[in-house]
Amino acid sequence: MGAVADLAALATPAPSTREDMLSRVKALAETDIKDMAPTVDRDGVYPADTLRKLGQAGAFSQHLSGHGYSPDRRLLDTIEAMAVAGEHCGCTSFLMWLQNAFGWYLEVSDNTALRDMLQARVAQGALFGTSGMSNPVKSMDGIEKFKLRGRRVKGGYEVSGSLPYVSNLGDGHYMGSAFELADQPDHKVMAVFHINGDDVKIAQNTHFIALEGSGTYAVLVKKHFVSDDMVLADPIPPYVKRIKPAFFLMQAGIALGQIQAHINIMRDADKTLGHVNQYLPDRPEFFEDEMAKATELVAELVKTPLDPDPGYLRKVYEARLAAGELTMRAANSALMHAGARGYITGAAADRRFRESVFVAIVTPATKHLRKAIADLDAA
Ligand SMILES: Cc1cc2nc3c(=O)[nH]c(=O)nc-3n(C[C@H](O)[C@H](O)[C@H](O)COP(=O)(O)OP(=O)(O)OC[C@H]3O[C@@H](n4cnc5c(N)ncnc54)[C@H](O)[C@@H]3O)c2cc1C
Repeated sequence: MGAVADLAALATPAPSTREDMLSRVKALAETDIKDMAPTVDRDGVYPADTLRKLGQAGAFSQHLSGHGYSPDRRLLDTIEAMAVAGEHCGCTSFLMWLQNAFGWYLEVSDNTALRDMLQARVAQGALFGTSGMSNPVKSMDGIEKFKLRGRRVKGGYEVSGSLPYVSNLGDGHYMGSAFELADQPDHKVMAVFHINGDDVKIAQNTHFIALEGSGTYAVLVKKHFVSDDMVLADPIPPYVKRIKPAFFLMQAGIALGQIQAHINIMRDADKTLGHVNQYLPDRPEFFEDEMAKATELVAELVKTPLDPDPGYLRKVYEARLAAGELTMRAANSALMHAGARGYITGAAADRRFRESVFVAIVTPATKHLRKAIADLDAA
């Protein structure tokens, strides 16, 4: 029966409009995603089937040329799909972001053969891809050192090292990440790594306070041959400039989903506690207004994701910073509204609070963004 249902789902035509795509994602959010959320959070179940269904619903394809309902790239649609799913599960919207970021790396790479090989399946959710770019982005922003190192060999590079936390992973998944050359650290290369269980393998060393079902592992790379065919960019600085705005802005989808969830918690709590909640400083209407403003700003910024102007980049940093800070503020307020009922293990306010902290610590974290803005100002 399951196989028949899966075949039926595969035969479903791709959505033909934004509304069609979003209503399919909403239907999934209110069934599979909502039902799975506590299990994903508590038992660490990776929601692979849900992600496949989201792919079939068009949630991973709208920002990629030739894969969405429109011939144009619709980054805002991709962000909205994350927000719709994220209203019920922050872990799922984070996984969507990783899949979408990987699709974007292929989108803006000059390696068209690599794009042709992987992107259609990424867009459909038939293949899982992820981003192992926290370490390279933090390194290039002067926060830490590169953790993957390579050396030039015939036809490619030999790469070794390890990344401590990468999510949306499992055997057979793909990861976009970057390494520097051991003998020439100024030279950095970005490539696709295939988790082959051999010289690129994953190990689960850590448990987290939330996002347990995010398929997060350490990635161990040992003398792995990265052929030139798998290279996304060499050298990477101009390419990283191209991927950064969409990388950062698409995370707004996770933030908006979380904030909506917090508004729902506040409204729900008000049904019985409104007589006292009305004295709290930050009320649901405040967050609704702020969300509308944030959405408008992101909608404007995602129109030009390849804009090289530093002034544009600064606006992107500020928008991403504001999204993280608003998420934390809403998380705090939701707990204040819910009171003791939100302090019970398994309460929505408990899970959503823990998920929200991640928005502020995932790269680019609040502290990283504040540093990056200060660096831009100093320059
Ligand atoms: C659940 C989970 C899932 C994640 N999933 C992903 C993912 O899918 N992909 C991904 O790429 N990342 C992922 N990350 C990483 C994430 O995006 C952030 O990069 C990470 O959480 C930030 O960690 P931090 O705050 O410890 O690092 P920061 O505080 O930003 O940086 C600390 C770094 O600075 C170094 N350091 C300390 N002192 C000095 C010094 N004096 N000079 C220079 N360096 C120094 C430390 O060694 C450390 O590496 C995940 C993290 C978590 C928790």
